[in-house]
Amino acid sequence: MSWFKRPTPNIDSGSESNLDPNFDSDSLTDADNDPDAARAGNQVRTEGLWTKCPGCRTILFKAELEANLNVCPKCAHHFKINALQRIDLLLDPGYTLVDGNLRSTDPLNFTDIKPYKSRLAAAQKQTGLNDAILTALGSIGHHKVVLSSMEYAFIGGSMGAVVGETIARAIDRSLASKQPLIIVSASGGARMMEGVVSLMQLAKIASGLAQLDEKKIPYICLLTDPTTGGITASFAMLGDLNIAEPGALIGFAGPRVIEQTIRQKLPEGFQRSEFLLEHGFLDAIVPRAELKQYLIRALDFMQP
Ligand SMILES: [Zn+2]
Repeated sequence: MSWFKRPTPNIDSGSESNLDPNFDSDSLTDADNDPDAARAGNQVRTEGLWTKCPGCRTILFKAELEANLNVCPKCAHHFKINALQRIDLLLDPGYTLVDGNLRSTDPLNFTDIKPYKSRLAAAQKQTGLNDAILTALGSIGHHKVVLSSMEYAFIGGSMGAVVGETIARAIDRSLASKQPLIIVSASGGARMMEGVVSLMQLAKIASGLAQLDEKKIPYICLLTDPTTGGITASFAMLGDLNIAEPGALIGFAGPRVIEQTIRQKLPEGFQRSEFLLEHGFLDAIVPRAELKQYLIRALDFMQP
């Protein structure tokens, strides 16, 4: 998209009949199609440099936004960040990524409007990951932790067998090393293309988390925008501490489905972190810039 584009045709300097019959008249009206015009500086290309904040509609310079941890400097809207950026944000440098080699086998050979296999291939190409999660072993301050971070850009951060197995392995690592487990959730729910296999992951993860609880190993949930469906209904809310970023969408069913079911208008801010904190579903809302220090303090408290 170019922002500065001539909306009207160039000034007509003569009648059509004076033009060369082979001349492409489109190039007069659409500078986009005319590379010579672009080179000559008739338009300014700004693609990719600016972004609009959905919170306050301010046009933000992307480099400035990234320097501010992808939080709007005007209204503190928290933009989505990817799984690797999240790990970089929370862990000290020198962490190790593990269990990233698992891939879905498409157990149902599923096809909706397009085959699940081609969705997987596209998501793998787009994100550079094998599935919607990354696990890292590393340090957060003076605490050694196991950290799993979900990737929303990979089929909506949905949980199939691979995400389930990766989290189960993270729990095993946490059990074996007695290091606290932190899971950062960003997900639309269970992955419907894997049917019941995706739902079975919930039981597997929940039973693993129960073992962590028995061994008194801390488990912290960080809920980010959005955390919905089966993820909220299971491991994202099972932490010893459940914290969220400001303004994150957190819920089970979407607001439209709930309104249609209960036939009532939902209150303002329904399913946002602030509403959930007020109603006792969260322990704290922590701005992105303070997350790391907050987690260190929480772990100090849990593991004196
Ligand atoms: Zn803003």
